[in-house]
Amino acid sequence: MSRKITHFETHDIRFPTSLTGDGSDAMNTDCDYSSAYVTIFTDGDEPLVGHGMTFTIGRGNDIVCQAIAALANRLIGLEPEDLFKNMGKTYDYISADSQLRWIGPEKGVIHIAAGAVNNALWDMFARARGKPLWKLVVDMTPEELVDATVFRYITDVLTREDALAMLKAKEAGKQERETIVREVGYPAYITSAGWLGYSDEKVARLTKEAVAAGFNHFKMKVGADLASDLRRGRIVRSIIDDPQYLPQGSKGRDSNSPELQGKNAGPTGAVLMVDANQVWDVPQAIQYVKSLEEVKPWFIEEPTAPDDILGHAAIRRALKPYGIGVATGEHAHNRMVFKQLLQADAIDVCQIDSCRLAGVSEVLSVLLMAAKFGVPVCPHAGGVGLCEYVIHLSLIDYIAISGTMERNVLEFADHLHEHFVYPCSINSKGRYNIPLNPAAGYSIEMHKRSIAEFEWPQGSYWAKARTGSVN
Ligand SMILES: [Mg+2]
Repeated sequence: MSRKITHFETHDIRFPTSLTGDGSDAMNTDCDYSSAYVTIFTDGDEPLVGHGMTFTIGRGNDIVCQAIAALANRLIGLEPEDLFKNMGKTYDYISADSQLRWIGPEKGVIHIAAGAVNNALWDMFARARGKPLWKLVVDMTPEELVDATVFRYITDVLTREDALAMLKAKEAGKQERETIVREVGYPAYITSAGWLGYSDEKVARLTKEAVAAGFNHFKMKVGADLASDLRRGRIVRSIIDDPQYLPQGSKGRDSNSPELQGKNAGPTGAVLMVDANQVWDVPQAIQYVKSLEEVKPWFIEEPTAPDDILGHAAIRRALKPYGIGVATGEHAHNRMVFKQLLQADAIDVCQIDSCRLAGVSEVLSVLLMAAKFGVPVCPHAGGVGLCEYVIHLSLIDYIAISGTMERNVLEFADHLHEHFVYPCSINSKGRYNIPLNPAAGYSIEMHKRSIAEFEWPQGSYWAKARTGSVN
């Protein structure tokens, strides 16, 4: 069936999360979680639609929407089936306008805009095949999956042939892993208890609720004030290490089990991670994190500037004797940064972002490189729509690429899921449920009523806010 892409819409959608302190950390103190959202349409008797977005925290979301429009224009008149045949090539095409490339290349606004456009095409692809995105990808042959991956600028560590060999080696176990993860869900950790703007009481209450909900990995924001971080860290540890808060009938987890090795797990098998959101210089990071040794973090996340690959490596070396690892990636702007983080032994945990990397094809190249280096991928998802996206990516990683999940944990932040038509969900063991709706695509379609309410600046919420009738 011949269909052509005819038009697209962009929406600048902003949620007023700064009013409640959701998302607050040492660097980002007043986040309005926002979505630069795009929908792509085709003609035809059975027209296709694809939804995509990238995440920002408020002002500037309009700039990203303009960049999305500039890139999406390149798709008008093309046949989606031609694009789907080789999504790696499609990625190159979307980023190949030489004038737009100048304002990157492959970084900043133009790249996250490319993330929204690529993800919208992937959503359309999955919907066209009647499968959730993860299933579309894990059902690909190794050859098809390699065609969907971007290799430009990474062949010094991963060639197409390397990737093919890795995928073939994992092929036999795919069905079994899919069956397992459908049954047990994908391991998750929770961030929404530990935002910096919350009071001690709120942190304690949310941590108890998270333990009761079955979570056993927790993340806390640090970096604004050492005394306060230690106080909040002790509060969190006192709750997660205390068996009385465990769900009824649960004895916790064996802290000596292989999946908890090296994670500084406490007596109930609970793991704490800390996240500084880039506030420190390298020597300061080393000094500060050493002072947090008492609360036994598994890793420090984003200790310094996201582009400072050798700085991360230095921090990792200095913290090794303290048993504290280094994680980063939510602001790593492309696959080349991840390549170098891996080459420089700079990270213990690879935190891809589903729409800072420019969509599924670039994510696949990072998943493959991380698997080659044996570094677990724990995607970033503190934002709006990110949890909806990343469960698909972690399933692809487990089923088709790395073949392991029990040392991985996928971030979960319990905010704003109600705005999505196919929201993610967590089971009673604190693990992500598997998206199974064949109509869900990449799970990123937003309710029309949410767009009407929160579109900036004319949506009903913001119009009311300007007249002072919202408090
Ligand atoms: Mg973070």
